[in-house]
Amino acid sequence: MDAAYGPNRLIHLDFKGCPIKVNYLEKLFPLFKEWGATGLLIEWEDTFPYSGNLTVIGSNNTLCNAYSEKDIEKIIGLANENGLLVVPLIQTFGHFEFVLKHDQWKNLREINNYPSSLCPSNPDSLNLVISMLDQVINMMPSIRYIHIGADEVWHMGYCEKCNPIPKEKLFLNHVLAVLKYLKQNHPNLQPIMWDDMMRVINLDILKEFGIGDFVQPMIWHYQPAESFCIPEELWIKYSEIFKSVWFASAFKGATGSCQVLPVIRHHASNHQSWLATVEKHGCHFQNVQGIALTGWSRYDHYATLCELLPVAIPSLAVCLHVWNNKGFDETVVKCVANALGYPEDCFSFAPYPRPQPIAPELSYPGWKISVGIEWLENLRFKHKNIIESDQVATWLNSWQIKNNFTNPMQIESLLRAFNDLNLEWDSLENYLRHYLPEVFYDTTIKEWIGTLIEPLRINLNAISEDAQSQIKKYS
Ligand SMILES: [Zn+2]
Repeated sequence: MDAAYGPNRLIHLDFKGCPIKVNYLEKLFPLFKEWGATGLLIEWEDTFPYSGNLTVIGSNNTLCNAYSEKDIEKIIGLANENGLLVVPLIQTFGHFEFVLKHDQWKNLREINNYPSSLCPSNPDSLNLVISMLDQVINMMPSIRYIHIGADEVWHMGYCEKCNPIPKEKLFLNHVLAVLKYLKQNHPNLQPIMWDDMMRVINLDILKEFGIGDFVQPMIWHYQPAESFCIPEELWIKYSEIFKSVWFASAFKGATGSCQVLPVIRHHASNHQSWLATVEKHGCHFQNVQGIALTGWSRYDHYATLCELLPVAIPSLAVCLHVWNNKGFDETVVKCVANALGYPEDCFSFAPYPRPQPIAPELSYPGWKISVGIEWLENLRFKHKNIIESDQVATWLNSWQIKNNFTNPMQIESLLRAFNDLNLEWDSLENYLRHYLPEVFYDTTIKEWIGTLIEPLRINLNAISEDAQSQIKKYS
């Protein structure tokens, strides 16, 4: 790799409310290495096995059970075996729902009703964050970097104590308190943080607080070429504050909060744009650290799941390929599609509209789940076309059912379509319930099927019963 792009290529594993089975990670890490990744940015969120008075953060959880200490050791060991650097990510200010939702820390919310952001003026806030950092660092003693999050702190300056203080000072005071603690107590660790909250803070204030001495920013941007825009002034401002810089792109979880299949075209374009940007602006900095390819599981702790990891492996492969080869063309597509076992007409850069052809067999870990999710998207399209068809609206609408004003000729034809649809749902649900446990734990599977499949099936059953009761009235 050209030094201008930095030596690091981290794959972001977002475990929030969605831990991935260790056996699956074991199959993925060698591929990550083969595809040119150098490390992992691991966001444990509520899956880390916190202990003592923090135990509740990683257990007693609606969405998932936390990893065990042994799981953590195993994951770190597997990363080491594959030469992958591990960078843990722990939120320390905003996106703190996974902590502030618990009763014992409700008093640390900046806004009483919202669990999103910590109140930085309460001294217990810093103590809590420090305890969390210490527990993670102690369980991962070999780490060299730690990411303290600090993006999207939606609520600052709302409580009585914070209100008189300007927002940028509230932000920098808290972040610097965390960074100074790390410097004093873990001097060999290099902290990293998301850059977005600093985008609107004046250069003079950033200089006054001296934040550049403590942290390396990770500048994130997930848009494709047509909307990719990081202003020139921002690069100049950061270059006056920071010697080293990181970038963050996205290979999934950035095109829609309830996206099911990744839009590879979008993510490939995002990486192309980053290549051009780094070429232009990387020279402002003494040291370019590299890129983290983010793969978001949810937009936040309370958001539904977006693209599952197995279905985004092709997107990750393409994005790494684009980054490593500094470009994107037909040969990239062919090379990646062949490596993953795709027949030519089944590798789609734009997964919608549906239906689309589905590969009968592929060759990467988790491909059976990918095939099932592709099938799901074809079936959801078919389902919608039947349930929302003109035939239903014309001969089996709710007024007609209520008034028993129906024609069996139409209802019989609809019932055949409903039955066929139901049989296909049976097949798909059985298929997914069989293969999803290869990667996911029960809680994730229940949530995902309960969100994407069950409501449609309940809906289909209800309309089928209405149709059957109409038929009975004539028999
Ligand atoms: Zn406050």
